[in-house]
Amino acid sequence: MINTEKIWMNGKLVGHDDANIHILSHVVHYGSSVFEGIRIYKTENGPAIFRLREHVKRLFDSAKIYRMEIPYTIEKFEQAIIETVKANKLEQGYIRPIAYRGYFELGVTPTRCPVDVAIAAWAWGAYLGEEALNKGIRVQVSSWRRPALNTLPSLAKAGGNYLSSQLIRLEALNNGYEEGIALDYLGNVSEGSGENLFVVLNGKLITPNLASSALGGITKDTVIQLAKKLGYEVVEQAIPRELLYICDELFLTGTAAEVTPVYSVDNIVVGNGDKTITKALQKEFFDLAHGRHELSEKFLTYVK
Ligand code: PMP
Repeated sequence: MINTEKIWMNGKLVGHDDANIHILSHVVHYGSSVFEGIRIYKTENGPAIFRLREHVKRLFDSAKIYRMEIPYTIEKFEQAIIETVKANKLEQGYIRPIAYRGYFELGVTPTRCPVDVAIAAWAWGAYLGEEALNKGIRVQVSSWRRPALNTLPSLAKAGGNYLSSQLIRLEALNNGYEEGIALDYLGNVSEGSGENLFVVLNGKLITPNLASSALGGITKDTVIQLAKKLGYEVVEQAIPRELLYICDELFLTGTAAEVTPVYSVDNIVVGNGDKTITKALQKEFFDLAHGRHELSEKFLTYVK
């Protein structure tokens, strides 16, 4: 059960039990949705939504790729998100906005099905656990690749893409790991099932570029900005698999995972276990998210 009281659907707040869609909705059959995951952090000035504008912009971009017309402006959509957070009286948590092809007809062509929109929000803590944030997680390189370029667009955060994430995650969990890292169609490193990835090598940060079949992560962008501010060089480039085994530090970033160190890859311990740079960036990130950083004003939307 997801513990939430009010869900915003097509302009109205409805109760948890009434937030339903028809079984013959296009999205149920063809994965035709675009969505976001956004965190609400507790701060001294009340709950704050992390990088709201960037998340809503990415939702609209995902919709644009799939030729879906979201029937609201970005500003109206942001207001609806704030309204949903307030209606659920959340101090901290997670927000899930979604736009999807609804009920009309069931051919593959989606154009005559309405674009319906919903926003849910609920209380939520660390995704991979507090211990993961501290000690790091054990990951495997997945046997599943990310979709090749020009197949399923990875820069769209679309429902259907998460079939790939499920394969990666199920395999990793079945094999006793906490997460899987997928390669792209060329064999370069892409991303985790729901996280971007950074390698630390000789004091420099390296992360896969935009053509690596990974999502353009907002946490990734945040970490790049924080790292540069701390004086680290950051390069976005193709990463061969074996760099995961010989780098000094490795960490994952994502709305859910925040900044999570990786302890080992395929049971090979990363570096010598040192996490100095990862921990420094993790601290900056949490300071930022909790309103204690000079960039907090710019990145947080306080819910009054
Ligand atoms: N990759 C995938 C596949 C994801 O689902 C996510 C989570 N949205 C990310 C990367 C990280 O993106 P963000 O930092 O914007 O949450």
